[in-house]
Amino acid sequence: ASSVKTMDPEIFDIINKERARQEDGLELIASENYTSPAVMEAQGSILTNKYAEGLPNKRYYGGCEFVDQSETLAIERVKKLFGAKFANVQPHSGSQANMGAYFAMINPGDKVLGMNLAEGGHLTHGSPVNFSGKLFNFASYGLHPETERIDFDIVRAQAKKEQPKLIVAGASAYSREIDFKAFHDIAAEVGAKLMVDMAHIAGLVAAGLHMSPIEWADVTTSTTHKTLRGPRGGIILTNNEELFKKLNSNIFPGIQGGPLEHVIAAKAVAFQEALQPDYITYQKQVVANAKKLAEALMSKGIALVSGGTDNHLVLVKTDSVGLSGKEAEHALEMAGITCNKNMVPNDKRSPFVTSGVRLGTPAITTRGLTETHMETLAGWIHSALTNSTNEAELKKIKTQVLDLCKSFPVYK
Ligand code: PLP
Repeated sequence: ASSVKTMDPEIFDIINKERARQEDGLELIASENYTSPAVMEAQGSILTNKYAEGLPNKRYYGGCEFVDQSETLAIERVKKLFGAKFANVQPHSGSQANMGAYFAMINPGDKVLGMNLAEGGHLTHGSPVNFSGKLFNFASYGLHPETERIDFDIVRAQAKKEQPKLIVAGASAYSREIDFKAFHDIAAEVGAKLMVDMAHIAGLVAAGLHMSPIEWADVTTSTTHKTLRGPRGGIILTNNEELFKKLNSNIFPGIQGGPLEHVIAAKAVAFQEALQPDYITYQKQVVANAKKLAEALMSKGIALVSGGTDNHLVLVKTDSVGLSGKEAEHALEMAGITCNKNMVPNDKRSPFVTSGVRLGTPAITTRGLTETHMETLAGWIHSALTNSTNEAELKKIKTQVLDLCKSFPVYK
């Protein structure tokens, strides 16, 4: 048996460098997290060798008796976690989950209403460069220009004007709680189905810290690797048996072949972790940290979209410190803090430059940081953004960041 170290020293070296990067910097990318060694152990297991087209106990291959058991555990656990009647745990990613869900509910060319990418939506919610925008006829809703929040008068007006077959709720860059019942009511008014993509907030929903979409949406999709803290992948949930059958067949054979049974086993492990009481403590800390970070940044004169947060992320308006999002991302990177540039409402710059950065607390909370560290972190962020071309100052912050990281190792 050869190890990566002996068989492929180049890849071994790269993995070690990436491990050090993940340990030695503050990870503020809102869609990332550190999954547990148990999850990685399952994902790195011999289950990767197995073909298992079909569903548990209804496969097109022999030898599936054990992967049937692990996939069934994943399904039962995720149903319990979110209180859903039916679940498909096979989507390889969030984008695949969304594609399978669309194909189960609408036809190419149909009108869909989703959230504008520039104001927080995801690429799969109708961007013209994505399959969603190419195959379906998407219209979009944005934020209220003053509150910078989803405004249901605006959503309703758009829904009435566009008469969509499907409304998509959920976002990649939105810091406020989303009222899924209000979306449900509007969908009902115009005779549309409702799909909720809860990818970003799934961990908060699982912990009861965000309104659950399950009873309001016809179909709920999610990734498993963001706040939820599992392996990279997707899931689809529904309470509607008819739709469930369509969802299953639109994932396989519709858009996928063999499911990734090693990833599905890792999902089962992650769902088991999420069913433990300390998971709620973790998610509460994620939200408390984001709130504290938001307050501390604003007290230093840094403006945030909608003036704060209800969830795991904040959107910084980098114009408030005289920088583009790209410049701010770079300055923070030099200071040992990773984040991503992000469009903000009314952004005058291109998606490659932007006027904002998105900061999230799921990963730094997993490594053990709490509110007191958020004060310190806000100070470093402010200092890096106001000294964005001062290499010595950025280096000084990076040294302090490294010290903090050494005190809070991720993988001990
Ligand atoms: N949906 C939302 C709301 C997301 O934020 C993302 C990821 O960024 C996705 C779907 C897509 O997930 P994946 O990257 O696994 O395809």
